[in-house]
Amino acid sequence: MCLVRFFLKLLLFENKGAAFKTLRTEIMQFLLKKRRAVYFDHNATTTVATRIRRTMNRVLKYHYGNPSSLYSQGLKATGIIDKARCQLATAILADPSEIYFTSSATEANNAVLKSLGASFFPTKTKIISTPIEHSSVINTLEYLKTQGITVDYCKVDNKGRVILSSLEKLIDNNTFLICCMLANNETGVIQDIVSINQIAKKHKVLLLSDCVQALGKIDLNVHRLGVDYATFSAHKLHGPKGIGALYIKKGSPFTPFIHGGHQESGMRSGTESVHNIAGFGAACEFIDRKITSNQNHIRLKQSFVNKLQKIKPDCIINSPENFCLPQTINIRFTSINNSEMMAMLNYHGVAVSGGSACNTNEEKPSHVLTAIGLSNQEAKESIRFSFGECNTIKDIDYTIGILKDFITGKILFVNSIHPVLLDEFSQKNKSLYIIDVRPKFMLKSTPGIPGSHEIAYSEIDDHVNQIPRDREVLVVCQNGPLAQMAAYYLKTKGINQISTLQGGIIAWCKTKSL
Ligand code: PLP
Repeated sequence: MCLVRFFLKLLLFENKGAAFKTLRTEIMQFLLKKRRAVYFDHNATTTVATRIRRTMNRVLKYHYGNPSSLYSQGLKATGIIDKARCQLATAILADPSEIYFTSSATEANNAVLKSLGASFFPTKTKIISTPIEHSSVINTLEYLKTQGITVDYCKVDNKGRVILSSLEKLIDNNTFLICCMLANNETGVIQDIVSINQIAKKHKVLLLSDCVQALGKIDLNVHRLGVDYATFSAHKLHGPKGIGALYIKKGSPFTPFIHGGHQESGMRSGTESVHNIAGFGAACEFIDRKITSNQNHIRLKQSFVNKLQKIKPDCIINSPENFCLPQTINIRFTSINNSEMMAMLNYHGVAVSGGSACNTNEEKPSHVLTAIGLSNQEAKESIRFSFGECNTIKDIDYTIGILKDFITGKILFVNSIHPVLLDEFSQKNKSLYIIDVRPKFMLKSTPGIPGSHEIAYSEIDDHVNQIPRDREVLVVCQNGPLAQMAAYYLKTKGINQISTLQGGIIAWCKTKSL
């Protein structure tokens, strides 16, 4: 009874202490909202499955030998790597001798592009790719351009599929490689790699396909696809981060990119990360079962879209209906900025993405969405939802409930101030309290607004009680999205008079230099 009275007092009566107010807000929120943790960003990364973690722990604990050592511990470690190589080879129907482990898919993409660039240059100088590749491909290609390689990006249609006739027209005597991903990380579009390979082979051109998002989600048979090179990453299929793999078809040219102790048959030196490799191998087990369970993802996706279209009929699906990863959907919420939406969803425990995880916190719109014809503004209104094994219909309904409240105005937006209006806003709010949530290293390179309080996002919890509740608070970051996350978070701590700076310090600096 006493406890009930204590809580009633806490909730109903005014109390001046900031800490007390914060506690009261948190309890109110706990009682009023049944907050769920919903993870809809499986294309960014996935949890490490318990079974896989156990395998890795066992290796870390007992099998510490260096695989290059010729005694029992070393030989045991070699055996673990061999097993994992066979597991990945089985999953993609390759020969184990065609698989090389790398530190990531980013490394594997770099290795093929730079190795072939160096071997063919200057006899042949041209690579053809698509404008919707992952940044680990696009940025490597842009680097190769500075080294004399010509890169032509082939046209894609409005769903992101490569236009085969355009691709063929781009091939000339100088072309040595076509680089095209199997499945796109942002929209889920699946390419017709079999036809692309036929074109490549007709013109005696090699083919690299980034298969990171496809492994474990769709049938993947490297021989049927016909690719010469394919790249993979363990953390997209409930394996560990920091381990990737490169498939090189027997007989395809490749010059090692990392030199050293001749590990991985001399193709990729460096002492092997045995526990990560074992984790990758374990992640490749039961891949058929994973692909079958994708039927659940298709049902979840369909249910999500049907329910969403009822509450926001003008939303636009950027992903294709056919030729799409079963668990990926990219949606445009007309007239709603995606960083605002992501911050709001994050505040309610829902993790989604505005594009590739590698490009979050950037002001630039997604290069994938602009390549399929969206304007910069339309791309900035788009969100990717990628479902996974842990998701249920309850997660869908919970998220739809939040979106409905947001769309119908029950959840308030965090006010955002255009940088041009900042001086006026400061004049109106003489006691404006500015918080700069950028990490410390950024503050040095781009100084912030004079008088602002530097509280990095990662340290906000330690300083929350110092932030005044009775003053207008402005949160700023480099480009805008991080400040929105922080602002929504601070609202949960009882700071209600809160705004963010549109486009962040970068946008504000631009207005100063005008
Ligand atoms: N390629 C695609 C399509 C991806 O989605 C990713 C990861 O986001 C990568 C490459 C890079 O993989 P990793 O994280 O192993 O470097």
